[in-house]
Amino acid sequence: MKKNIFAGVVLLLTVLIAGSVVADTSSIDGKLIALDAGHGGDYTGGYNINYYVAEKDVNLSVVYSLKSKLESAGATVVLTREGDETILSRSERVDIAIAKCIEIANRECDILVSVHHNGSLDSDHNGTLTIYNEKQDVALAQSLHDTLVPLTGIDEGYLNGGYGITVYDHLISTLTEAYYITNDEEATTYLTGVEEEAGETGYFYLTGERIEEEANAQFQGIGNYFTAMENVAPSGKKKK
Ligand SMILES: [Zn+2]
Repeated sequence: MKKNIFAGVVLLLTVLIAGSVVADTSSIDGKLIALDAGHGGDYTGGYNINYYVAEKDVNLSVVYSLKSKLESAGATVVLTREGDETILSRSERVDIAIAKCIEIANRECDILVSVHHNGSLDSDHNGTLTIYNEKQDVALAQSLHDTLVPLTGIDEGYLNGGYGITVYDHLISTLTEAYYITNDEEATTYLTGVEEEAGETGYFYLTGERIEEEANAQFQGIGNYFTAMENVAPSGKKKK
């Protein structure tokens, strides 16, 4: 009996501690979210030449983990890339996202998050960078950046850049580079993951602790964004 009480207290403490870091994500319920795993197919993206880790696989792994978290919270999620498809351009990715949102829910996606991991010639370099294109994307970029930066502790900023994904169709979106896949420590951590299939595509990536950490941070950032949006009246003024 004593043991049970002890276990109960431990559980309660765990919930309390977790509750203090995990933000309210109820705002995700009912949202229509497009996730884009950067690169794919012929395009590996960044590549760690010391450990043979391709960015396209890490991107896809994070996207699948994030998808299941968002769906558990009541969101509908569409993926631009489900396996190792080659998608030629960023505009094509946006077109795929829009078409899938219309197909599944007959409306425009609420947001699009494009998941990337950065590359550098320096295998020690690490950091977190978030990129957006338009003014309407800033709030999402900022929310995601805030929850992703602790992954590396190195803030490389959230930038307005041409590498974003929102040039077309006014879809609110952001491109994240949570860490550098060319960083040897990140690559070796990725390699400790277990093999998982991308949907039912026959294509496999690894998933492990680091992928989960990032997916949790992405999930929290998206939740924070929608919560903040709920508190903004259509005129752009804060609700009383
Ligand atoms: Zn990339």
